[in-house]
Amino acid sequence: MPSVAAADLQAFAGRVFHAAGCALEESERIARYLVGANLAGHDSHGVVRIPRYVNLLAEGLVLPGREVRAVVDLPSLAVLDGEFGFGQTVAPQAVAVGVEKCRTQGLAAVALRNSGHIGRVADWALQAADAGLVSVHFVNAAGSVLVAPFDSAQRRFSTAPFCVGVPLPDRPPLVLDFATSQVAEGKALVASQGGKPLPADALVGPDGEASADPRLLYGDYEPGGPRDLRQGAGALRSFGGHKGSGLALMCELLGGGLSGNGCTASGRRFSNGMFSLYIDPTRLDPAEVFPAEAVRYLEFVKAGRPIPGGEVLLPGEPEARCREARLAGGVPVSDETWEALLGTARGVGLALEGTLRPAPPCR
Ligand code: NAD
Repeated sequence: MPSVAAADLQAFAGRVFHAAGCALEESERIARYLVGANLAGHDSHGVVRIPRYVNLLAEGLVLPGREVRAVVDLPSLAVLDGEFGFGQTVAPQAVAVGVEKCRTQGLAAVALRNSGHIGRVADWALQAADAGLVSVHFVNAAGSVLVAPFDSAQRRFSTAPFCVGVPLPDRPPLVLDFATSQVAEGKALVASQGGKPLPADALVGPDGEASADPRLLYGDYEPGGPRDLRQGAGALRSFGGHKGSGLALMCELLGGGLSGNGCTASGRRFSNGMFSLYIDPTRLDPAEVFPAEAVRYLEFVKAGRPIPGGEVLLPGEPEARCREARLAGGVPVSDETWEALLGTARGVGLALEGTLRPAPPCR
């Protein structure tokens, strides 16, 4: 698969959003987060999203230049309306509110509703961790009914991600961040465009049989043609049996219901809702026992004997490794994704020739 240097890809993405109508600062921010997801290895939340984002912008379903509006503002609690702004704009604003409240109160809860797609939730846990805070995030995507609960073949949940971030002394924060479906929908999109294939049991057909075929999500599609999530007869499967399905339900109820975003339902406008808790470990643990205990325990976990051919990794390690490899070797972009990006760029009036420099392939 051809690769593109991350800096070139980011500059390209920024130009597309600017030409599509976003201010320069916002364009560059969206581009930075999207390419950051590619660098972390989550191509599902990277530049593959650009055509969708630009379409949503053109349709007025996501709005440039928004600021969160406080619906509830208490010392340790906020409910914020993202007013359908870009998630890459309103989510960091919501985290900043949580960080400020947590710094004064030791503990804060912030609910964000009506946000555009917030991308990789790890970005928001990392922002909190950079401020020294532990954070927990329950997220839903109203309007995006994609995932079948445990033992069901019918869509009821969004891919409802869950994320926890923990700052650590003298090492990068630990961030666990995943969709509560077996795979994020964007991974099906990437697979449908000739990228990494899905695991054999990522989807379920109307007959209840497990499958890896993205057509169960999008129906029949042409190479280069649109992928319409309403056309598939099947569903993504929730992860982790009844336990993962239960966590998905909680993400819907807290990230969707409690935040005021609305639980996932067909016919609803797309919006991410995020219910976040922020904890200041220095207030909870003034004797500072936790940092050393966390590091000791992580080392104990890492030292566990791997199964043959296996390797014990901590959350965040695969992303850190991929980032290093892709910063050096470029971000792989499938031909079909590439064509879709060029088509979107042309559609917003960009002249493209000579703008991108291919980099050597990644690993
Ligand atoms: P995934 O299945 O790759 O799981 C990622 C998590 O598992 C990470 O914390 C990673 O460090 C950890 N991990 C991976 N391999 C590991 C190993 N071998 N050992 C230990 N830990 C390991 O991710 P996903 O479910 O495909 O989600 C991808 C991204 O999609 C996430 O960033 C998520 O936030 C995002 N997402 C966003 C939305 C939205 O609406 N905005 C919806 C769904 C998913």
